[in-house]
Amino acid sequence: MARVSEYFGLNVFNDNVMKEKLPHETYKLLQRTIKLGKHLDIGLANVVANAMKDWAIEKGATHYTHWFQPMTGITAEKHDSFISPVDGNKVIMEFSGKELIQGEPDASSFPSGGLRATFEARGYTAWDATSYAFIKDGVLCIPTAFCSYGGHALDAKTPLLRSMEAINRQAMRVIKLFGNENVTRINTTVGAEQEYFLVDKDVFEKRKDLVFTGRTLFGSKPPKGQELDDHYFGAIKPRVQAFMTELDEELWKLGILAKTEHNEAAPAQHELAPVFSTTNIAADHNQLTMELMQKIARRHNMVCLLHEKPFAGVNGSGKHNNWSISTDTGVNLLNPGDTPAENAQFLLFLCAVIKAVDDYQDLLRVSVAAAGNDHRLGANEAPPAVVSMFLGDELTGILEAIEAEKPYGTKEKELLRIGVHTLPKFPKDTTDRNRTSPFAFTGNKFEFRMLGSSNTISSANVMLNTAVAEVLRQFADVLENAVDFDSDLHSLIRNTISAHKRIIFNGNGYDDAWLFEAEKRGLLNNKTTPDALPSLIAEKNIELFTTHKVYSLEELKARYEILSENYCKVINIEALTMLDMVNKDILPAVSSFTHELSDTALSKKSLCAEISCEYETELVKDISSLASAVFSKKKELEAFMIEALECADNTALAQFSKDKILSCMTELRILVDELETKTDSNYWPYPSYGDILFSVK
Ligand code: ADP
Ligand code: MG
Repeated sequence: MARVSEYFGLNVFNDNVMKEKLPHETYKLLQRTIKLGKHLDIGLANVVANAMKDWAIEKGATHYTHWFQPMTGITAEKHDSFISPVDGNKVIMEFSGKELIQGEPDASSFPSGGLRATFEARGYTAWDATSYAFIKDGVLCIPTAFCSYGGHALDAKTPLLRSMEAINRQAMRVIKLFGNENVTRINTTVGAEQEYFLVDKDVFEKRKDLVFTGRTLFGSKPPKGQELDDHYFGAIKPRVQAFMTELDEELWKLGILAKTEHNEAAPAQHELAPVFSTTNIAADHNQLTMELMQKIARRHNMVCLLHEKPFAGVNGSGKHNNWSISTDTGVNLLNPGDTPAENAQFLLFLCAVIKAVDDYQDLLRVSVAAAGNDHRLGANEAPPAVVSMFLGDELTGILEAIEAEKPYGTKEKELLRIGVHTLPKFPKDTTDRNRTSPFAFTGNKFEFRMLGSSNTISSANVMLNTAVAEVLRQFADVLENAVDFDSDLHSLIRNTISAHKRIIFNGNGYDDAWLFEAEKRGLLNNKTTPDALPSLIAEKNIELFTTHKVYSLEELKARYEILSENYCKVINIEALTMLDMVNKDILPAVSSFTHELSDTALSKKSLCAEISCEYETELVKDISSLASAVFSKKKELEAFMIEALECADNTALAQFSKDKILSCMTELRILVDELETKTDSNYWPYPSYGDILFSVK
């Protein structure tokens, strides 16, 4: 086996490869274009395309694709081969600059939320030169943005890139005020920790609900779950180990910095954490990671479940979005520094994030809203649906001292003056980690923990980048006109703490008492997706996104439509799957079982009147009455499905789906799960929770 350092990035047209394969002048021009975010001129594109093609062919590629991220939450690709016919029934391999910079996928069936009328169904894809091209399965993949000819973003990448521009613009204004003459660019960085389940493929395929919806719609609790905590960080089973080894290798070849792999809390649950990178690269890499996890699991006769809540009563899967802001000179702006100036800058950026999270808590909630994640947020293993921030006692103490103009700590006699004093040292606690906070400061970054495991990370980062950009804009407006910089800075920080400290909560987020407290503080608690989504098109948020040119009004409305529609579709598919399972498998199975029980009772009786048939008789009674209850409940569900057709639009349908259909599904499930506990497992038509969760040996 080759050494990792030898094959890391093997399939990526990265900076080293560019340097080697491109003429020096071309390389320099390309770097400049990328850095300035300018359009590539066609002459330059032709040279780059040709070098890219030669490199790809050397590595066995025959096709290329514009790899893009439509609003389906996953990625899309259409493969074109490099071949071009020439005289004499021959072909040559060709790839032009035009094909590199712009593509035109026949993409009329991707969701557009009305942005692309069918008469102009074409959208086009454009190379995002900040993300390297790579080879996957013999195809040269070019990361691209996907837009309509009217210029509307039809994807997840375009708004993310725009939000990175927005925060760069405003953060640059702020850090110029602190000197920092050498900085030319500020980027946000992200490391996305990914949770997932692995189950045996043969077992998976016996569960219609897993196959059609990604989660189990029925299933009574197994005798053993995660109560012993023996899976968390436990020894990794050989089959899982083989999967992880192959996954790491494949990710490394794609230049993805997979770093840690370990078992998670629930049986069959695991996690992968990468080393962080620039946000748009992290988003691309997370998409590739999810894709490869699913593909490689299949090679090991397993299935990777990325659903947020595959099993009721068992921990769900999330994604932790570790986020920070850095300069191109390598300074992490959320890292407390050693000098008064560095500290002042740190506190200002910290306050910007605090105010942004408070002002736009509704948007952070929207960014993680999906039918799957609704089963997780607020259940007792995931952060609640209320957005709050954890800063830790030490940092909170410092902020409180600044606000109250009181000395901090025992040794300090003086009041802490921002810009004049250094911050008292506070330990980056690694032990006292608050795992229940939706948004936790972890020493030099924030960890946003509300994302669902199948979420693209783009949306959360669009919200974060834009919200922080807006606050930095306001801060820059104040400070650029400061008369006495240190004093005005001090006031700005003090006032921000005072106005936004309600969002800071260091206690246990899983505690019910917190929900009462949060309500008292006026924090939002949008429990479900239909409750959360309307914030996307609230006046203040339209203003935010249009000011920073991240989303136009039309783009926001389109996204609202798509998200609502998606929610309704998911519930609809789940309800139909449930009905199918009940009608075709579950009721017939219990009917057969009661038939056998009745037969047994009858034959016992005919043998001898004295033999007791209590067990059979009682069970037949029990099961029959439960089966009748299931039968009526499923008829109720069928009636709701018909009533749903009357809903005027997706907004109404989403509410109806949540209030009526989903509630009815929950009731139906309780009955069926009870039935499962009473039915002979030879008759029960599906593998049990125990069978699935412990299927990988
Ligand atoms: P911790 O022990 O604090 O959780 P880790 O080093 O394990 O820290 O990091 C957790 C995740 O956070 C990793 O994916 C890591 O790459 C990421 N991370 C670390 N620093 C940053 C940063 N400055 N910006 C974004 N993500 C970061
Ligand atoms: Mg974590």
